Amino acid sequence: MYEIKTAGLKGLGVFAKAFIPRGTRIFSESPLLAIRAGQNAGDIYSGSRLLSVEDKNRFLRLSSHVTKELSILRWSQAAWYTLKHTLISIFGRKGEGEVAWPNPKEHVMVLSIFRNNAFNLGKSSEYQQAVFPRISRINHSCVPNAQGNFHDVLGKFNIHATRDIERGEELTLNYLQELGAGREKRQERLLGGYGFACECPACDLKLETARDGERRRVKMHEELATYVEGMASGAVQNSEAELEAVRRFIRLLEGEKIAGRELSTLYLEAAKLNQSYAKYEEALRCAERGLAIDEDCLGTDHPLYQDSLKAVNSLKKHQ
Ligand SMILES: [Zn+2]
Repeated sequence: MYEIKTAGLKGLGVFAKAFIPRGTRIFSESPLLAIRAGQNAGDIYSGSRLLSVEDKNRFLRLSSHVTKELSILRWSQAAWYTLKHTLISIFGRKGEGEVAWPNPKEHVMVLSIFRNNAFNLGKSSEYQQAVFPRISRINHSCVPNAQGNFHDVLGKFNIHATRDIERGEELTLNYLQELGAGREKRQERLLGGYGFACECPACDLKLETARDGERRRVKMHEELATYVEGMASGAVQNSEAELEAVRRFIRLLEGEKIAGRELSTLYLEAAKLNQSYAKYEEALRCAERGLAIDEDCLGTDHPLYQDSLKAVNSLKKHQ
């Protein structure tokens, strides 16, 4: 379905070998290295030292962009880890990470690769962050054609096509978490966090569509600011402003052809707000739209899809 090959300046990328219809599960991968809630940098390194030689090599082949600031942070973490193990060895306590003497240089390398490749899996997940070596090859776009969601029951990170993908087209994911951020902010995050300047169709200002999208984002931010001020002064009712803000976000994402969980969540939120005004027909329409998007980006076997289905079914009872 896909192949890994060079993607120009971006290095390697993943490309569709054939047409991939929207909703297709393209990847389903178990984590190679992960940290659970409450674990920290030391646990990343400990975990890496327990990998098989083959898995460790797969891990070390991933990219390790390091910014100066992060590099200092990582060195201090590595230094602490080494110090902790020195103390453990002096006082003869047996504990975690006793496989081999820690190597600070390798530790920094492991942390850099982890930070640069790990996906945040969300609060509800078993893992806080995890690395998936095949999925890590998928490059970023601010207007992606695929999305990853962790499936806790399967213990796998699934990548679904959020729109139809043509043969030869590069598969892309959005690495950023904020919704509706402007170009400048996105570039700053991507350069600082991942070490590249984004040239996706939303960032390339030579394109008319990119300039239009940027204008829509700026306009939406201004309008949201007006609403927030209106709410603060009491001129705008909290709930109606909320529904209007949700609608604006939906229009913005749809205008950019961005689908996935962020869009379905907005539709499900709109459904809830409409329901609270007893607008059941509109609520059901929103919830069904959210469910259809969830089917594409999560699949019907995903627990979150089941939650959305319940929301739709409970609204149907009001019809
Ligand atoms: Zn971009």
